[in-house]
Amino acid sequence: MGLPTIFIRLSGCHLRCQYCDTKYAYHKGEQLDILTLMQKIQKYPSKHVCITGGEPLLQKDVYPLMTQLCDKSYHVSLETSGDKSTVLVDSRVKKIIDIKTPHSKACAPVHKDNLKNLFNTELKFVICSDEDFDWAEKFIQENHLTHSKVLYSPSWGEITATHLAEKILAAGSSAQLQIQLHKYLWPNKQQGV
Ligand code: SF4
Repeated sequence: MGLPTIFIRLSGCHLRCQYCDTKYAYHKGEQLDILTLMQKIQKYPSKHVCITGGEPLLQKDVYPLMTQLCDKSYHVSLETSGDKSTVLVDSRVKKIIDIKTPHSKACAPVHKDNLKNLFNTELKFVICSDEDFDWAEKFIQENHLTHSKVLYSPSWGEITATHLAEKILAAGSSAQLQIQLHKYLWPNKQQGV
C-alpha cells in the first residue's frame, strides 16, 4: 500500500460480492494482446504491477502475462477472489487471496489448493460486520494461519477502519489492518478505478 503501482484490471467476474466497487469490470473492457499490454506498461515509470479484476484467473493469458512481467523485472502482485486454484501462478508473483466472508454474500469458499502453499502469499478478508470479524478469526485459528500474513480490510460504508482496528487490538488478532488508501486520498473520485 502506498507504492506507485500500475493496475491491470481484467474484465469478467463469476462472483457478485454485495460490496463490489468495480461492477463495470463485469462486462466492460478492451481486448488487448500481451505484446500491446507490455508496450503500454513500459510507458509508466513504476516497476510495480498489480493484476486485478474482476477475477483475473478467469483469463488463461494472465499466466504468460505474469511470467513475462516477472522476466522483465517487474514486482508483480495478483489479487484473486480465492475460489480459483493459484497453483499455476508464477512463484515470483505475490498472491493476495481474498477469502470471502459470509457478509460478502459471494458464496465462494476458498479453493483447497490456496491454503497449502502460502509462499509469497497474503490472505485478505474484507470485513463487513462484527460477525464477519468473528468468522475470520475462527477461520484463521481452524486453518492454523496465525503465522501467515493476514489482512483485514473494512468494507467501505459498512464498518469503519477505527472500529476494525479496535476489534483487532481487543482480540489480540494476528491480522494486519489494511485500508483502501485511494478512497481516503481521493474521496470524491469514481471509486475502484
Ligand atoms: S470478486 Fe471482486 S470483482 Fe468480483 S464481485 Fe467480488 S469484489 Fe467484485
